[in-house]
Amino acid sequence: MSNPLVKCTVDQCTHYMPGDQCVAAKISVYNDEMKSNSRMKEETLCKSFHPRKTMGDMLGAFHNANVGGTVSAAFVDGTQLTPAVECFVNPCKYWQHGNYCNAEHIHVAGLNASKTADTDCETFEAK
Ligand code: SF4
Ligand code: SF4
Repeated sequence: MSNPLVKCTVDQCTHYMPGDQCVAAKISVYNDEMKSNSRMKEETLCKSFHPRKTMGDMLGAFHNANVGGTVSAAFVDGTQLTPAVECFVNPCKYWQHGNYCNAEHIHVAGLNASKTADTDCETFEAK
């Protein structure tokens, strides 16, 4: 089993923390439609995205918080929390049986996201 480091720039999500970190214990990456086969990164999404309405909502994010979770080396410096990643996007070259991702790191993005479909796994590459 492998697990990538997660960098996320979706600052509208309750699980987002400054430093482009995700404090969710686990995230799920899906195709935009359950039955579709993603052919490009725009067709992937982070199912664990939850819109943050106010700054105070950040405190509410900790129901799925990575307390005592995996602490991995940072992308830049220091240490970085990273969630467990399950992925259902099997057309991606990093996808592994068991719904694992064997990329070293992934980047989840979505400018001004308000729903899961607004987010993408930028690291997706078609097989
Ligand atoms: S969009 Fe996904 S990866 Fe980004 S902070 Fe939210 S749950 Fe984590
Ligand atoms: S890089 Fe590919 S396998 Fe990994 S989470 Fe993104 S879409 Fe899934």
